[in-house]
Amino acid sequence: MIFYSTNKQSTPASLKKATLEGLASDGGLYIPSAIPTFSKEEIALLEDAPFNDIAFAIAKKFNGGEIPDDHLWQIIESCFTFNTPLVELEKNTYVEELFHGPTLAFKDYGARFLAHLTGYFAQEDHTLITILVATSGDTGSAVAYGFKGVPNTRVVLLYPSGKVSRLQEQQLTTVGGNVTALEIYGDFDDCQRLVKQAFMDAELKQRLSLTSANSINISRLIPQTFYYAWGSLQLKARHPGKEALFSVPSGNYGNLTAGVLAKKMGFPIAHFIAGSNANDSVTRYLEEGRYEPHPTIGTLSSAMDVGNPSNFARLRHIYGDDYRAMAADISGHAISDTETLDTIRTVYDRFGYIMDPHTAVGFRALEKFRQANGASTEPAAIMSTAHPAKFIEAIKEALDRDITIPDRLQAVLDRKKIAIPISADYRELTEFLTGLDDR
Ligand SMILES: *Cc1c(COP(=O)(O)O)cnc(C)c1O
Repeated sequence: MIFYSTNKQSTPASLKKATLEGLASDGGLYIPSAIPTFSKEEIALLEDAPFNDIAFAIAKKFNGGEIPDDHLWQIIESCFTFNTPLVELEKNTYVEELFHGPTLAFKDYGARFLAHLTGYFAQEDHTLITILVATSGDTGSAVAYGFKGVPNTRVVLLYPSGKVSRLQEQQLTTVGGNVTALEIYGDFDDCQRLVKQAFMDAELKQRLSLTSANSINISRLIPQTFYYAWGSLQLKARHPGKEALFSVPSGNYGNLTAGVLAKKMGFPIAHFIAGSNANDSVTRYLEEGRYEPHPTIGTLSSAMDVGNPSNFARLRHIYGDDYRAMAADISGHAISDTETLDTIRTVYDRFGYIMDPHTAVGFRALEKFRQANGASTEPAAIMSTAHPAKFIEAIKEALDRDITIPDRLQAVLDRKKIAIPISADYRELTEFLTGLDDR
């Protein structure tokens, strides 16, 4: 398959090039030259299929033969070793739990697939690829766990000392093996600046085969289409003749973009609800057709605090820059922190189910959608992006109770932190990076 840049200035790329580059050289985001489609017959064949069979069928179309089928299947099998449960809260309302991967958040789907694809392409070229990532928390841990033990790759994470939560720091600093954490005495902007500087250093970039595992990488988006396809087919089996609604708590809108791709591929999806927090530039665009990004506002659903979402360029491109076409498929609702806390409370009271603040935004947005559009008979699933134990403080504030920490998380908290402290000085970073080769 060929991928184009949304800026249309750089040359089209293979899956390999798009994966290893992340961002196109013209600064645009890669999108498939044509969204692959599934016929009714092909979809009927997938209806009772296990998750990984559906994943393979989709990946195959995006791959277009670059990776041999048997190897692609192995990649899928190594990535998706955990379940994607669809939990029924009440008639027609489900939660699709995307948090059963190693870091208890949905970013594991994208990071693991990207890691295995990168490893495959590196091994093909007999190179060792170095992934350099600045992180303020969750992306870094998904990348660290995604690349952990993947041959021909090593990860260097830069995180700001004292500026990530204890749980996040433990997730970043206890992976070991091919993953090294650098504790930067500076803030997140310093970390980003250092990484940027390293990427502009042509000699260093070449010598270490630096790549970024950026969240806009097309190979992080492709695997996110798998759980929409799977979820829509599961819902169809339980509600014959109906198409699904998906409510998606959104920050950079990558998750939502993957959903839109799944719908365009032909999977039985009726409509999307995009829940945002106070960072509502896309919500407003869907209402008014004007896009006015704004400085980021801090909220309880912090992983969605994005004033200028990076994947918006992709969405716009997919809909031919026509906001009415986009609004016909996607309804946006912005949810305040007060509503988020209230939702965690009422969902717990009504169903005995504990939702993290991001999922709660999705739940409330679905309620608002249903209030505005009248009761529908379509089944709806809220995409649950994180395990509530990752946001203990918010749960405590909403429910005034502690929650059980899953064993996996507790094990991470008990492990010994290993991080290399360095100052926010570029020379120190290059000294460390060039020294890597001698280890
Ligand atoms: C990253 C993240 C989101 C936002 O996903 P996007 O693809 O950026 O819209 C939502 N919830 C959680 C828990 C996240 O980590």
